[in-house]
Order: sequence, then structure tokens, then C-alpha cells
Amino acid sequence: MVVNHQSLSNQSSSISTGQLYIVATPIGNLQDISPRAVAVLKQVDRIAAEDTRHSGHLLKQLDINTHCIALHEHNERQFAEKIIQQIKEGSNIALISDAGTPLVSDPGYFLVKLAHQEKIPVTPIPGPSALIAALSAAGVATDRFCFEGFVPSKGGPRKTFYAQRQKEPRTMVFYETPHRIVESLKDLCAQLGEQRTVVLARELTKTFETIRNDNAKSLLEWVKEDTNQQKGEIVLVVQGYRAPQGDTLSEETEHTLRVLLNELSLKQAVKLTVDITGEKKKKIYNFALEIKDSAQC
Ligand code: SAM
Repeated sequence: MVVNHQSLSNQSSSISTGQLYIVATPIGNLQDISPRAVAVLKQVDRIAAEDTRHSGHLLKQLDINTHCIALHEHNERQFAEKIIQQIKEGSNIALISDAGTPLVSDPGYFLVKLAHQEKIPVTPIPGPSALIAALSAAGVATDRFCFEGFVPSKGGPRKTFYAQRQKEPRTMVFYETPHRIVESLKDLCAQLGEQRTVVLARELTKTFETIRNDNAKSLLEWVKEDTNQQKGEIVLVVQGYRAPQGDTLSEETEHTLRVLLNELSLKQAVKLTVDITGEKKKKIYNFALEIKDSAQC
């Protein structure tokens, strides 16, 4: 793969007019803001923020004096139209959220959609997100994953939510709140099984950062006993469904099959996987079908 890295000395931090910038900000540690994010936030005409008081604190620490305007979820459509008008008149606007990457369980969707409809350039300034930070350190498969946002807050919908994901083969990432973590893990145990690997990623990039990879039952016991684990911000990373032993493939065989399926026809991928691993053809074939089916969902 050829990556076109601009060297730091070559990089220009100047911005063009009439653009919308989507700027990621830290999820805890201020040092995670990128120099490019700071440059853009300093140069734009206005910063649209979820909570101007909250963001004001961050901007002050970064010595950014750009005027901030409030984007609330309840006025997003109305707000988006106003912002788009300002961009059309030549302004540059940056969108930030309270923490992390805007639009990841945060507002901004209508604004970005409208910008595209109006042929306004939308430029992402990538950076922290709790989702990717948790996933990168979780120690579960990352070749395929799905992000499911917040787990439902009420018991009934939460049980259904987990039950519907019992056979999801991809790694799943959820956002959860501290005061519901115990009940949520209880439901997860009941619906996905006590032996399912779950990672609790808490207070990422902050002083009390905790990342624990364990089976669902042990994790629940630990969180119940140590009430500190019921505080702060939480991401849950859950291993995808694995067929019961006997029908299952080793991690290496499954990886080989998945890689080959990305490049070859099902027939060729199955044949090569059998040749490479010595596994039974029927077993590999059935798995290949399952992988293809779930990819079409
Ligand atoms: N846009 C953000 C992002 O890119 O991660 C997410 C915003 S969402 C409203 C807030 C949720 O993200 C929290 O309730 C928690 O589940 C997760 N989160 C945010 N910061 C976190 C952190 N430092 N550690 C763990 N989880 C975090």
C-alpha cells in the first residue's frame, strides 16, 4: 500500500474558504489534540460546539479564541440550515463535539448531510474516538467489527438488544453509562453467555484508565465488587459469536479463509484454505457460506 504522508515541514495548515471542518478533540487527555486540529480551530470563522461552555474550557486551555456557537440536538436541522448559509457566504466553520469525533454518538449528521447536498466541501480532521481507542487496546479480533452506539437504558429493550446480537460474528462495540454497567453486564451474561469475552474500557486516556479483558461472568463479579469500576465513561468491546467447539475453526484458519474470501471466489478460497490448513473441506465450505451471508446483512 502506498501512503502519501506529507512531511511535517511540507504540511500547510492554512485553510480554504467556504468549508465545513469536522474536528476531533480529546476524550480525556488534552495532549491528544492534533496540531492540525488546533490550527484549523484557530483559523475558522466560527466553531459550532455541542456545549459552548464545555468546549469553551477546552478552547481556553488551547489558547483558541474563535467564536463558539451552540449546536444542540433539538435544534440541529434549523441550525444546519443557518450554518450552511454562512458557509455559502464564504465563512469557514468547524464542528466539534464535547469529546472525541463528532457524529460518533454525537450530533452533526444533518449538518454534514446538508453540506453534501449543497456541494460544500466537508473536511475531516481526524483524532481521538473512544470507540477506536477501546477497540485498539481490547485484545479481541479487529478485522471486522460493528459499532452499536449506546446500549438501551431500560431493562426490557436492553435484553432484546443483546438477544438480537447473540449470533453476531463480528466484534461488537457499545457505549455504556456507569450507573447502568452492572445491570447491563447481567443482561449481557444472560443473553450472550457467561463465557463470552468482554472488555471493559473505562476512563480512556484519563488518570484512572482501566482496560480489562475477561469472560462476561468474571467481569461482572469484578465490577460488582469494585465500585470504582461503576464510575466514569465506559466502552464495552464484546467478542463476536463463535460456533460451539467441534464446528469451530481455529483463529488462524478462520483468518486465512477471511483473507482469501476478500480476494477470491468462494470456491477458490475454500480450496486454498483446505490446501493451506488441512481442515475438512465441508467444514471450511460451511464457514465460508456463513461469512458470505453475514457480509450481506
Ligand atoms: N464522540 C465521542 C467519541 O468519538 O468517542 C463519543 C460521544 S458519546 C456522547 C459519549 C460516550 O463515549 C460515553 O458515554 C462513553 O461511553 C464513551 N466515551 C467517551 N469518552 C470516553 C473515555 N475517555 N473513556 C471511555 N469511554 C468514553
